Amino acid sequence: MTDSAPAPLRSMPDDWRRALAVVAHPDDLEYGCSAAVASWVADGKDVAYLLATRGEAGIDTLDPGRAGPLREAEQRAAAAAVGVRAVEFLDHRDGVIEYGASLRRDIAAAVRRHRPELVITLNHRDTWAAGAWNTPDHVAVGRAVLDAAADAGNRWIFPELAEQGLVPWNGVRWVAVANSPTPSHAVSAEPGFEQGVRSLLRHRTYLEALTAEDPETYARRFLGESTGVHRARFDGAPAVAFELFSR
Ligand SMILES: [Zn+2]
Repeated sequence: MTDSAPAPLRSMPDDWRRALAVVAHPDDLEYGCSAAVASWVADGKDVAYLLATRGEAGIDTLDPGRAGPLREAEQRAAAAAVGVRAVEFLDHRDGVIEYGASLRRDIAAAVRRHRPELVITLNHRDTWAAGAWNTPDHVAVGRAVLDAAADAGNRWIFPELAEQGLVPWNGVRWVAVANSPTPSHAVSAEPGFEQGVRSLLRHRTYLEALTAEDPETYARRFLGESTGVHRARFDGAPAVAFELFSR
């Protein structure tokens, strides 16, 4: 008996106009899916970013008071490198983001403001594809995003949002989870690859603290490997893969 080949990754839907990407930290989108964002923006779609924290606990050699503003600036530059201008921060505390009603409410409020059809987040599952343990911030934010996509459409769950003028938005059609260990869909990484590399390189302070390798060599290798791993399931092409939840 032989193992059957893994199922092909289906193409990501592209009949949408607005997306909101919601992640825990600066750099999550650049490691996860900014090559895909670059190609969507180039196609005329509107993508906005929402970060739960400023990543202030992410650099061992920099205290949070200095790291937060620096990483915010690097995140804005990384977004600009793929054509994203709207970047917002929720100011939850890096490293100890709590899953719960206040996080869901903050994300639901952003969904109502931006009215996206597609919501993007980072892996909410316990592990990454290689079996490594995920971090609690990614799990908390990813799960809250999946929940808030529905919360945003229910006028009774967070009635205080309507009092602030944020009317319910029940138009989220999909939530796409980047870097899931169980992806179902993908988009070609080729058109946006170079912009994806440049966006990751904008996190220069973070990369220089992370690795002694030349930052560009590191970014190109990392993104080449992480998109190349999906070739066998995507007609031989490098791909940004997502686990897609339809609503
Ligand atoms: Zn992260």
